[in-house]
Amino acid sequence: MKVGIYPGSFDPVTFGHLDIIERSAKIVDELVVGVLNNSAKNSLFSLEERVSMIKEMTAHIPNVRVGCFEGLLVDYMKEINATIIIRGLRAVTDFEYELQIAQANGVQNSEIETIFLTSSLNYSYLSSTIVKEFASYGGDISKFVPEQFIDRIYAKYNITR
Ligand code: ADP
Repeated sequence: MKVGIYPGSFDPVTFGHLDIIERSAKIVDELVVGVLNNSAKNSLFSLEERVSMIKEMTAHIPNVRVGCFEGLLVDYMKEINATIIIRGLRAVTDFEYELQIAQANGVQNSEIETIFLTSSLNYSYLSSTIVKEFASYGGDISKFVPEQFIDRIYAKYNITR
């Protein structure tokens, strides 16, 4: 059984992430969306909030589950028997960093393969940062995240619709 991991901060999860999740779930037998619990990185949403939003968004995909990890991705992968890392590539600017990380992970464990999915044209501009930037000014984020997340995101900026 091929277990893949799609790691990230998902602060918050967007339609761009969902697109990668839906497509990669067709490639691996089981996909674990791995939410990074990075205490040094100031996240807008708590780990629990990020996990629950991803669960809501992926409830329709049977072979997807959500996990969280701290520390090295390769160590977490051993724990859950995952051998495939899924990453999304939006623009060429993503590439340099992603290549370096993929090679470093491969050196750590030669069983690990990283698969890059190019983002769909519809979402190549979309990042969690863009969502937060628009939301912080009360901008329209309905094309970025599902309707049921909008109030939760605005609430972080004390904005009501
Ligand atoms: P973000 O850059 O959105 O803050 P994360 O750390 O949560 O992202 O990203 C996790 C993974 O999802 C990364 O591989 C990133 O390149 C990918 N990703 C994020 N947004 C998109 C998108 N719109 N299309 C394709 N891949 C994406």
